[in-house]
Amino acid sequence: MTTAEIITIGTELLLGETADTNTRFIARALRALGVDLFRAQTVGDNTARIAEAVREAAARADIVITTGGLGPTVDDPTRQAIAEACEAPLEFHPELWEQITARIARYGRLPTENQKRQAYIPRGAIVIENPVGTAPAFIVDFPPLPSLGEGPGVRAVIISLPGVPREMETLLAGAVVPFLQERFGLHELILVRTLHASGLGEGMVDDKIGDLETLANPTVGLTAHSGIVDIRIAAKAASEAEAQTMIAAVEADVRARLGEAIYGADEETLEGAALDMLARRGWTLACLESGMGSALLARLGRGGHAAWRGGSSRTVRAETLAEETEAVRRSEKASAALGVRLEQMDESQTISVVLLTPSGKAERTLTYGGHPGNAPRWAANMALDFLRRAGQEAG
Ligand code: ATP
Repeated sequence: MTTAEIITIGTELLLGETADTNTRFIARALRALGVDLFRAQTVGDNTARIAEAVREAAARADIVITTGGLGPTVDDPTRQAIAEACEAPLEFHPELWEQITARIARYGRLPTENQKRQAYIPRGAIVIENPVGTAPAFIVDFPPLPSLGEGPGVRAVIISLPGVPREMETLLAGAVVPFLQERFGLHELILVRTLHASGLGEGMVDDKIGDLETLANPTVGLTAHSGIVDIRIAAKAASEAEAQTMIAAVEADVRARLGEAIYGADEETLEGAALDMLARRGWTLACLESGMGSALLARLGRGGHAAWRGGSSRTVRAETLAEETEAVRRSEKASAALGVRLEQMDESQTISVVLLTPSGKAERTLTYGGHPGNAPRWAANMALDFLRRAGQEAG
């Protein structure tokens, strides 16, 4: 098992000014390589703290990837920190300096003395040239090379990449991934399939498939958001076909246990599942929503589904919801209509759903006690779950 940790560097990340997208990108690349990512952390622009974080990570993992802090300014401390962590002093590389000055000249500018810092790289490091920016990246062994032959020898590699996402992504794909495949003999891959369930709480799903969550390979994990539970099945194998077979076995088991709570997989959406159900029955849908800021209409309208007719978002009283939903069904010339009304109270929200179909009328009222900001999304999910199930039951 090859393990990795990510350290993103930048005070702007800790101040909440920049969202850390680099971790996500690198995490996915590592996943595709079959490398287990054990930790990811963010450190500010402080040489001592970066050096400490790198030393600790390198003592635990085979691969440590840092991003950011390679620029020419004083608050770009990564080079110095890696040099300290690896006890490999910074060395000037004239050929890098030439490349950097040539690149700066192409922008019609003269290099500053500060920019010379970027041509300094820890001793023994492999240089990764940066065709899309000025800061070269590099790869260093940890512990430092002199300890080779005494004890375990080289254990970890530290890979320092620029912070600018586009530069980082280019270097990762073009240089780092091939390097890691070669160095660690990475011939395995991790494949992920995510099943989506609605209408069952996370606790209930956990209850039904909890034993699967302790499997080692494939692994099974849950994420819940506003009434939807994602069941992520990740398999590690030597080939895609093998990983797919492993996933299929666990998927069949999960589906058998959760039944029709599962509405789709991967990119499939709850609104898509509900509209598909209507289309299978030859029905079309109109929708009236109240108090939800178009949360439901926006989703139903996306992608131009054949079963979707249209609808309206306006404030409606509880007593007239069914009546006004019927009016929207007629005006949109749909065979079915969904009316959803969300009422924000002080402590909780009440959602009323009415569904009119050629088979009749169904109603439901629910109370939501979560964060008020999530209430519209939750109400939309509950209504769509009601819709897709009502259609199934009627069939
Ligand atoms: P360069 O020398 O090209 O500026 P650098 O290695 O010095 O690169 P930073 O100065 O740390 O990188 O960051 C450069 C830019 O990239 C900044 O705009 C920063 O907000 C952005 N950035 C840095 N780290 C991340 C990250 N983890 N996710 C997304 N953006 C990031």
